[in-house]
Amino acid sequence: MLDVLIIGGGPAGLAAALYAGRAQLKGLLLEKLSPGGQVLVTDFVENYPGFPDGVTGFELVDKMAQQAKKFGVEIKNGEVSEIKKEGHGFVVILSNGERIETKTVIVATGATHRNLGVKGERELTGKGVSYCATCDGPFFRDQEVAVVGGGDSAIQEAIFLTKFAKKIYVIHRRDELRAVKILQERAFSNPKIEFIWDSVVEEILGENQVEGVRIRHVKTGALSDLSVQGVFIFIGIEPNTSLVKGLIKLDDRNFIKTDEWMRTSLKGIYAAGDCRSKPLLQIVTAVAEGATAAFAVQHDLE
Ligand SMILES: Cc1cc2nc3c(=O)[nH]c(=O)nc-3n(C[C@H](O)[C@H](O)[C@H](O)COP(=O)(O)OP(=O)(O)OC[C@H]3O[C@@H](n4cnc5c(N)ncnc54)[C@H](O)[C@@H]3O)c2cc1C
Repeated sequence: MLDVLIIGGGPAGLAAALYAGRAQLKGLLLEKLSPGGQVLVTDFVENYPGFPDGVTGFELVDKMAQQAKKFGVEIKNGEVSEIKKEGHGFVVILSNGERIETKTVIVATGATHRNLGVKGERELTGKGVSYCATCDGPFFRDQEVAVVGGGDSAIQEAIFLTKFAKKIYVIHRRDELRAVKILQERAFSNPKIEFIWDSVVEEILGENQVEGVRIRHVKTGALSDLSVQGVFIFIGIEPNTSLVKGLIKLDDRNFIKTDEWMRTSLKGIYAAGDCRSKPLLQIVTAVAEGATAAFAVQHDLE
């Protein structure tokens, strides 16, 4: 029986593996794709401490994976499809039917940004299309960008982008915002922000870099092209928590609730990273939580 099974090989899972390995716990990390998580699709990371000149997403997570492996936690490819409480531990079932027994589980399954699903979006992700203003905003200094969405995060991020971009067009499919009033007031009074109402993005334009967006007015059907160098999409983020729904407590947006030790509502299950209910979804917070979860496992098993 394992001491700890870590589900997900993003920054949170890899940091948990590093700390579990150094604590000499018998551990296994399962990742359904390649270790790295969302950072694998992040072109360049400028805000992870220790890299004053920035680092490519690939290099950062490759180093994290190497470091985690060094201390003995095995990293294997596998998709967890079910977790069952059994006796004093858990049985984890993989999509290929394999069953693994473990005393504890760290859920580090991350989150998935909702996509627009339009032509050009996938091709230009990391080339002007972004889902994270905190991460990518500084690359758009003195440029013109579009923000898609009308909720709190879209408006908050549009305001944040005014620090860098010279003009921000907020494209929203309705004629009013869902964001809280205080954010609306701040956005409306900011001269750098212009609203394009009742409109949806039909296509993101550009060959190797974003050059603009094609917009459709939802009431008239009229199409128009807007020249921008960046497109920030904030139409929601979904935690990858369907696996644990009904097993542990989630918040009203389906993110996992934990205490400060990363313990969930069910003894023996911990959560770390973007799947957890928290204010800041970043690499630096994910690794801190992975480390804390592994430390809590060590503490609780002792
Ligand atoms: C385009 C983009 C740019 C970003 N730029 C930055 C940046 O510059 N700086 C920054 O700090 N943050 C950035 N972020 C945010 C950062 O990537 C995340 O906060 C961080 O990756 C969260 O780590 P995580 O380990 O919690 O989750 P994730 O990175 O989402 O990793 C979760 C992993 O779990 C795996 N998984 C899910 N379900 C299962 C299952 N059932 N079985 C097995 N494996 C499973 C997934 O395949 C995935 O690899 C960016 C995000 C995006 C999308």
